[in-house]
Amino acid sequence: MDDIVQAHDLTFRKMITAEQIAERVQEMGTQLARDFAGRHPLFLIVLKGAYMFAADLLRACPIDQEVAFVRLSSYQGTRSSGTVRMDLDMTAKVTDRQVIIVEDIVDTGRTLEAFRQKLLADAPADLKVVTLLHKPEAQAFDLIPDYVGFTIPNEFVIGYGLDYDEAGRHLPAIYQRTDT
Ligand code: 5GP
Repeated sequence: MDDIVQAHDLTFRKMITAEQIAERVQEMGTQLARDFAGRHPLFLIVLKGAYMFAADLLRACPIDQEVAFVRLSSYQGTRSSGTVRMDLDMTAKVTDRQVIIVEDIVDTGRTLEAFRQKLLADAPADLKVVTLLHKPEAQAFDLIPDYVGFTIPNEFVIGYGLDYDEAGRHLPAIYQRTDT
């Protein structure tokens, strides 16, 4: 796969290879399986960006589990829009459950914090956050993800489920914007 890719008007350079992702996701799945064995956790997968990560992560986590999907969005193009939209197409109940939010990336943390507060109102027994990518430099909310795949600089990235206006999701590696 090319080290440089084009998505719409922008150019991106490979930052994390597919092999590095596979290895790290396997480690994360093993760790979650160890931490949640016998606790039947509910994984809440944040659409759309986390679908590819979640599919690999949950296969690497061989314990009893339940999944539900939620649509949250604050991004348009390459900038956070400042407002968080939530479409909770969730049938699962979180009360008294071990809940694990599965995110693609924590940037400012705004989306996640809004979602966390909403879930906490339903009194889960435990609420953890697992994210493939974390941009600590961009973080504006006091929220530390419990499980982080890779800590990355404050650059816009695509690939492995993450898009730029729907382009780039299919890429098996993570790519960063070159022309900032
Ligand atoms: P936050 O609310 O933390 O600022 O933004 C979180 C959401 O914005 C993520 O779930 C993701 O959908 C999107 N996002 C944040 N940073 C990036 C990025 O670098 N690339 C892409 N494609 N989406 C991002």
